[in-house]
Amino acid sequence: MSVKFTGSFLLAMLLFSCQEKNYKSYEYELGVISNPRIYKMLAEDSPEKQMVDLKELIPGIVLDIRYATKNNFTGNRIYLLEKAYLRLPAAKALKRIEAKLNKQGLGLKIFDAYRPYAATVKFYEVYPDTNFVAAPWKGSKHNRGCAVDLTIIDLKTGKELPMPTPFDDFTEKAAHSYTDLPKNIINNRKLLRDIMTQNGFTSIPNEWWHYDFVGWENYELLDISFSDLK
Ligand SMILES: [Zn+2]
Repeated sequence: MSVKFTGSFLLAMLLFSCQEKNYKSYEYELGVISNPRIYKMLAEDSPEKQMVDLKELIPGIVLDIRYATKNNFTGNRIYLLEKAYLRLPAAKALKRIEAKLNKQGLGLKIFDAYRPYAATVKFYEVYPDTNFVAAPWKGSKHNRGCAVDLTIIDLKTGKELPMPTPFDDFTEKAAHSYTDLPKNIINNRKLLRDIMTQNGFTSIPNEWWHYDFVGWENYELLDISFSDLK
């Protein structure tokens, strides 16, 4: 009995360490950059790789960084700082979008932008469904500083325009193809999609709030904390 216990215990330990090793080897195979000095060198070499603090470039933008609170699908606070970073060209595109929306009395609210790779691993452990959560063996475009989760607000009231679902609702209702909705909600979703796709971003089928910056392949996956980017 004790031999059997020891055997299964060792097996469990082995599986655990393999899993740990897997994430490390994904990181290695994907070329995830976790050294802030290497990121800095790359950004000095190619200025478009600079990570930009959205609040500094677009002072009027509203942040509701859910992963810096417990109000997210993990139920835990994942980020230590409430920050939104994107690579320079993506940040500039968002600035143009904000300016266009402002003319209509509207603005952007950001739920998430750059996300360190370690957070992607954590998300997958909590919710291992790659329809909604990025696979650690691929990484997320958020890890490249080239994806943003956002919605539109009314500047007068500060309230979000009604959308099909809340942020990070992992149901079919979050898909762009879902049409069993009031007309105004369909129009709001379309307003966001049109302005994003006309200004350098592409949508994904399953999440109305998520947009990828075109050219994301040119930017490395990063695992650098917000405090190291500051
Ligand atoms: Zn996203």
